[in-house]
Amino acid sequence: AAKRAGGNRVKVFNQQMRVSVQERITGEKMLREALAGDRQQNLPVWFQPIVRAEDGEIVGAEALVRMCTADGTILGPGHFIPAAEETGLIVPLGEHVLRTALRYLQEWSDDLRYISVNVSPRQLAEADFVPLLADLLTASPEIDPRRLVLEITETAMLGSSHDVRERLETIKALGVRIALDDFGTGYSSLTWLQNIPADVVKLDRSFVAGLSSDPRKSSIIQAVLWMARSLGMSAVAEGVEEEADQLALHAAGCPFIQGYLFGKPVPPAEFSERLQRSRMATTP
Ligand code: C2E
Ligand code: MG
Ligand code: MG
Ligand code: MG
Repeated sequence: AAKRAGGNRVKVFNQQMRVSVQERITGEKMLREALAGDRQQNLPVWFQPIVRAEDGEIVGAEALVRMCTADGTILGPGHFIPAAEETGLIVPLGEHVLRTALRYLQEWSDDLRYISVNVSPRQLAEADFVPLLADLLTASPEIDPRRLVLEITETAMLGSSHDVRERLETIKALGVRIALDDFGTGYSSLTWLQNIPADVVKLDRSFVAGLSSDPRKSSIIQAVLWMARSLGMSAVAEGVEEEADQLALHAAGCPFIQGYLFGKPVPPAEFSERLQRSRMATTP
């Protein structure tokens, strides 16, 4: 019986491997096709509001890429970012997202202070990344570079940390701001905080969701907010789904928040409407 169970386990394991390899191959193929075709159509960039904790007023947006398959299915980044990272396709994909974000920064210049763009470690490792960023900003002189925020994760620091640090300094010299994404989930968050010249800390959803009813989460959040403030950094709490959490974050002095409570990521047209509505609401 033991042998049979073992045999079954092996079979299940093999099936899972096949599925994941299959999925990776499909993901890569789809991604190549998507990048070769109409990128706006195939790889739409959606936007999620980032709001003031005090009153829910929209101050910024995070750009979050999607993939639209031939049959019209919209895939989240979890389905193709890993393949993109592995194959290096994240480089053209990231450039597409960056260009798109800059276009919308211009379009929404009256209503939106900033757009936050995720930058993968692989992109940051490219020597061409900073020159590309500088070129794009030069090509759009009407966009204040401070309205662009690049979100990086701790894994960006693994490996060539010296180069990356230098690159981040150059990026900051352009006026672009840096946010530490998913803060607190890596294994060296404090080292990171010490070494990276960041402007914003994004508190990971895992510390945020349900904090109003969890004294331990609440203590951790308060400590991180205190550190961020002491270091002259701003903070955004991710994954706020409940009003009680918004209130708790505001009470703890967290200036900005993001989460389904204020809106899920939506296509640009829908985000535009939302900006329009909030402008009408605040214009006397
Ligand atoms: P992230 O940068 O941490 O983005 C936040 C993710 O949390 C988004 O998932 C967002 O939809 C989700 N989220 C926001 N508020 C809530 C909430 O209240 N509850 C819950 N349950 N989730 C919430 P999404 O869009 O699926 O993106 C997942 C990850 O994919 C991102 O995590 C980011 O790491 C990566 N990603 C997305 N777009 C890009 C991109 O253009 N470039 C790169 N390199 N990575 C990207
Ligand atoms: Mg992010
Ligand atoms: Mg995040
Ligand atoms: Mg995250």
